[in-house]
Amino acid sequence: MNKNKVVIALDGPAASGKSSTAKEVAKKLNIKYLDTGAMYRVVTLLALENKIEVSDSDSLGKLVDNIDFSIVGDVSDPTFIVNERDVTTDIRSREVTKNVSDYCAVGIVREKLVTMQQKYSEKDSCILDGRDIGTVVFPNADYKFYFVADLEERAKRRLKELQEKDVDTDLNTIIEDIRSRDEKDSSRSNSPLTKADDAIEVDTTFMNFDDQVNLIVEKVNNG
Ligand code: C5P
Repeated sequence: MNKNKVVIALDGPAASGKSSTAKEVAKKLNIKYLDTGAMYRVVTLLALENKIEVSDSDSLGKLVDNIDFSIVGDVSDPTFIVNERDVTTDIRSREVTKNVSDYCAVGIVREKLVTMQQKYSEKDSCILDGRDIGTVVFPNADYKFYFVADLEERAKRRLKELQEKDVDTDLNTIIEDIRSRDEKDSSRSNSPLTKADDAIEVDTTFMNFDDQVNLIVEKVNNG
């Protein structure tokens, strides 16, 4: 890396390989990694548990203000702690996955989480993955990538991941979940999922994992 501090934005639709790639890039470049989707999942989990409706912006704003969020452990297997509770598994539940695109579209939720994301990367080099990193969170990021992949291929990868965790599901359910989330994430008025004009688009459908990682690492190392 030529610069003292770099910010890498990695956006794209659900299950396009962003998180796994970002973790490996962070390890190789020895920089921080922030999974911004996990933050929206945390808000969704707590809102559902506290029976806060999507329409109740005031309560959602207060909820976010009271979240003490930290990430501990190895970058390749992070543990998400919220108010001293390990929520790593709970934030990946089907219920959270089904509702996250609704809660994350609430203005006050995005405003507060974007500020937290910007602070997290204030001093240190970081790769962040999400939907609006290159467009809203870090429009001046040093490097921007936008991952895409064929829907069925994305669903197959997600199915494999979930089966490895013994989650009982099937390909069609996952295809529908991904399709519905992408549609909501792309069509919301507040910070929709979209490629930044200056982002490099990478179609990962036929790429292997190492090539995805190396593409980013080489770009950064070559300045
Ligand atoms: O990345 P992941 O699939 O875990 O993200 C969960 C959800 O969080 C996305 O479907 C999207 O609705 C929301 N999200 C977002 N902006 C981000 C990251 C995630 O709206 N920067």
